Amino acid sequence: MRNLILILGDQLDARSAALEGFDAKLDAVWMAEVKHESTKVWSTQPRIAVFLAAMRHFRDELRARGFTVHYRQLGGPGGETFAEQLRSAISALKPKKLFMVEAGEWSVAREIEAVAAETALPLEIREDTHFLCTRESFQKHAEGRKQLRMEFFYREMRQHADVLMEKGKPLGGQWNYDHDNRESFGKSGPGLRIPPRRFLPDDLTRGVIADVRTHFAKHPGSLDEFDWPVTAAEAREALDDFITHRLAEFGRYQDAMWTHEPWLYHSRLSAAMNLKLLDPREVISAAEKAYHAGKAPIESVEGFIRQILGWREYVRGIYWHFMPDYIEKNAMQATQQLPDFYWTGETDMQCLRDAIGQTLRHGYAHHIQRLMVTGLFALLYGVHPRRVHEWYLAVYVDAIEWVELPNTLGMSQYGDGGIMASKPYVASGKYIQRMSNYCAGCRYDPAQSTGPRACPFTTLYWDYLLQHEPALRQNQRMSMQLKNLARLTPADREKIHAQAAVCRSSCGKKS
Ligand SMILES: Cc1cc2nc3c(=O)[nH]c(=O)nc-3n(C[C@H](O)[C@H](O)[C@H](O)COP(=O)(O)OP(=O)(O)OC[C@H]3O[C@@H](n4cnc5c(N)ncnc54)[C@H](O)[C@@H]3O)c2cc1C
Ligand code: SF4
Repeated sequence: MRNLILILGDQLDARSAALEGFDAKLDAVWMAEVKHESTKVWSTQPRIAVFLAAMRHFRDELRARGFTVHYRQLGGPGGETFAEQLRSAISALKPKKLFMVEAGEWSVAREIEAVAAETALPLEIREDTHFLCTRESFQKHAEGRKQLRMEFFYREMRQHADVLMEKGKPLGGQWNYDHDNRESFGKSGPGLRIPPRRFLPDDLTRGVIADVRTHFAKHPGSLDEFDWPVTAAEAREALDDFITHRLAEFGRYQDAMWTHEPWLYHSRLSAAMNLKLLDPREVISAAEKAYHAGKAPIESVEGFIRQILGWREYVRGIYWHFMPDYIEKNAMQATQQLPDFYWTGETDMQCLRDAIGQTLRHGYAHHIQRLMVTGLFALLYGVHPRRVHEWYLAVYVDAIEWVELPNTLGMSQYGDGGIMASKPYVASGKYIQRMSNYCAGCRYDPAQSTGPRACPFTTLYWDYLLQHEPALRQNQRMSMQLKNLARLTPADREKIHAQAAVCRSSCGKKS
């Protein structure tokens, strides 16, 4: 054999740069399902199933296109790590060279490089053309800047990719419509909507579900409602469905939450994009076309495109720019373990019960649930950012380290001390009350910081500000919050400290 093309579970791109120059007579593709990838963080069943279902469909599509694919399925012979499987494949197939595109995780890249070095095989790593910004371009963007901010990166990307631009200026006259995009649903709730298109498991996916139930029986989460797109064709249908039925209201209700409503106006496209079933250019272009066709307002279209052309590309840049040190960062010196209820959803706190419940059921929560419910609580509680990272990487169907880590450790936990976010995203329970109906069904009261009905978010919010006051004083953007803190009397502060200590030892335990 001449070349062995390595395709990892998040590289299911039919136009992958790794396949360029493939000669069916001389070359072959290698893919492997290994348990280690689902146990190094204790992955939920939905997350495992999405990866494996998409991989098996991709394998069959490649074979149908004439590629020889050596595929190791769960339960097959040999070890349960990439390194062990790759060594066996190399010794059986005896390729002269290995090819792949850039991996999505720093340690996986090192693992594969180590096997190539040990077997003395050249390994050619090609740029991942799925992304609009190369790692090298991001380095150039970052060079010489004292501070990195997504907004500046995003404006460069808009210009560079010529997206939502008109004669060199942003379409509509503004780069950013965020201030129009922060509505909640009000008392009447989100109302009737067309539910998102579901993709019920075909025979191949049903086989995956059975395998996950057998091999990962003790892993959290449920597969009863599994309906994720797992092929490129399904991903395109999901995109069409979002553009037709939800994009128009996406911006307005982007931050809103509602009990038992996991999807609202979100796209559900992150897993399909991160597995590379769907090209971000296609997604951006579909949203832009909807605007020009008068089907969605600029606030929604710009808000949606910013997530993909801005945030998604930006976090990837941050990850590769700051790894491997980034994962070790703990700027606020948080030390607590993650409360157990993160793995069960069993807590009296209605907001956390809902967000974690749907996470375990679907492997999904939308951005504000991740940032301002599960992430906020972990931050205020003082959980070590590494533990928070391990949870996020384990539970979501779209979780791959390049995108998950900067969002978790940086944006949500402020563990990087301000690389991702200009200030910690901290708020009391009143934020959750404003953006959802969770508090109406909760035994706690978001307005109270002490006493039997005190909302744990509110207690821990004040305690967080008290604990970190000296460090936060250095940050201009925290001045409003610290001004409010200054109004607390010494007696109030004492009571909050005491209640926060009780909360850390008992809150989360169901009454
Ligand atoms: C603590 C935390 C952890 C996160 N972990 C992940 C993760 O592991 N994988 C992941 O893809 N996203 C992650 N995000 C970002 C975001 O929450 C998800 O992309 C989004 O909720 C996916 O749902 P959706 O496809 O319906 O997105 P929509 O709300 O419809 O947004 C559209 C698309 O924009 C992109 N996007 C939006 N926000 C971000 C962001 N902050 N960073 C990168 N891309 C973004 C996604 O590709 C998404 O599909 C995380 C956010 C937080 C706060
Ligand atoms: S009262 Fe506090 S714990 Fe209960 S739902 Fe509201 S924010 Fe969450």
